[in-house]
Amino acid sequence: MKKFVMIHDENLCIGCQACSVACKNENQIPSGVFRVQVHAKMSGVFPNLKTDFTRASCVMCEDSPCVSVCPTGASFKLANGITLIDEKLCVSCKYCVLACPYNARFVNPITKAIDKCTFCYPNRKGATPACVSVCPTDALIFGDINDSNSEINKVLASKSVEYPKAHLGTKPKLGFIKNTKGGRYE
Ligand code: SF4
Ligand code: SF4
Ligand code: SF4
Repeated sequence: MKKFVMIHDENLCIGCQACSVACKNENQIPSGVFRVQVHAKMSGVFPNLKTDFTRASCVMCEDSPCVSVCPTGASFKLANGITLIDEKLCVSCKYCVLACPYNARFVNPITKAIDKCTFCYPNRKGATPACVSVCPTDALIFGDINDSNSEINKVLASKSVEYPKAHLGTKPKLGFIKNTKGGRYE
């Protein structure tokens, strides 16, 4: 069985938002709402400035609060680790929106359904997601951790990968490599 994981290497990210635009195009996400965005945060004092780019999207929790609070089974997990929404079972109670500690869910203003990142699974069935495929710096890595030859396993073995809000115990499957660049004046 495949298990999908994504990593955002913040050292390689340039904040271009191509991932966000590609996602909107792939999944017909209307203006004003996003499945993924990359946020920029500046710190330091000139000339020792640092810019960190962090990804905001569903992190595919293994122990997902959105699934456990859903009263109808509309929020569910596949065995491959991807959390999805069955619009036919959704009664728009928004419990999942409130329960998500990552603010990953929103109401799609066109479909009126609850929406979020799906790793593009409904369209691409486990192939490289739209955001990953357009990233100009290869800052996004996606793959199957049960494939010992996968790029994602090489990255997990060789780099220090962290997980957002790990202390909550939701066991995200979207990790990040913390930015160490910037903040130096040479
Ligand atoms: S496309 Fe890649 S480099 Fe651009 S913001 Fe997204 S992750 Fe960062
Ligand atoms: S990040 Fe939010 S929407 Fe995604 S699996 Fe976790 S709780 Fe659910
Ligand atoms: S995996 Fe697909 S749905 Fe998720 S952010 Fe990337 S492009 Fe959007």
